[in-house]
Amino acid sequence: MPHTSHGSIEIICGSMFSGKTEELIRRLKRAKYAKLKIQVFKPEIDNRYDKTAVVSHEGFRIEGVAVRHPRHIEYLLEPDTKIVGIDEVQFFPDEIVDIVEGLANRGIRVVCAGLDQNFKGEPFGPMPKLLAIAEHVHKVHAVCVQCGGEASKTYRISKDEAEVVVGEKDVYEARCRGCFLQGTSGKEQGTGGVVTV
Ligand code: ADP
Ligand code: MG
Ligand code: ZN
Repeated sequence: MPHTSHGSIEIICGSMFSGKTEELIRRLKRAKYAKLKIQVFKPEIDNRYDKTAVVSHEGFRIEGVAVRHPRHIEYLLEPDTKIVGIDEVQFFPDEIVDIVEGLANRGIRVVCAGLDQNFKGEPFGPMPKLLAIAEHVHKVHAVCVQCGGEASKTYRISKDEAEVVVGEKDVYEARCRGCFLQGTSGKEQGTGGVVTV
């Protein structure tokens, strides 16, 4: 007997300012036209623009719920929900992988947006596993603020060493590989401005 579950996992990934949240909101808003019930979640840690709503850098928004643990997504799930959106998914612990897979196995379309790399250029938290199990993966890019090229990296301007420092343009810049390496190699004097490589 063929399985008739229509669940699936979509991941939108990239650096900061690459349009992940905009793309997530775009997909979720389209689903509203199909009159499908959607629920949106984000980790509690992301309180940059709003405690609950998922908001892009440009101010596009969709209402959601901030949760502390991936399990809370299951507790809060309503029976008629067909689509689950999760923003900043990289901040969740590894348990998010099983939760996302469980939702998809139950027939839900799960759309997640998250940073694929941390400020050191290393894979971020549960992202490698989520990327591996997803049906659809979409990598979006920002503009490198140093050279105008295609940015795939998030460069931290501040000297903070913790993996998670929630911040905006005061703390992070989108950079291409070359400009990211220029910064992390310590060859750069100060921040901002155009670097001649
Ligand atoms: P993300 O969720 O990936 O951090 P958002 O979807 O919240 O990004 O915001 C994307 C928006 O950020 C873009 O549409 C643009 O207006 C703005 N933006 C700011 N800095 C940059 C940059 N360096 N490159 C591209 N877009 C940028
Ligand atoms: Mg975002
Ligand atoms: Zn660059």
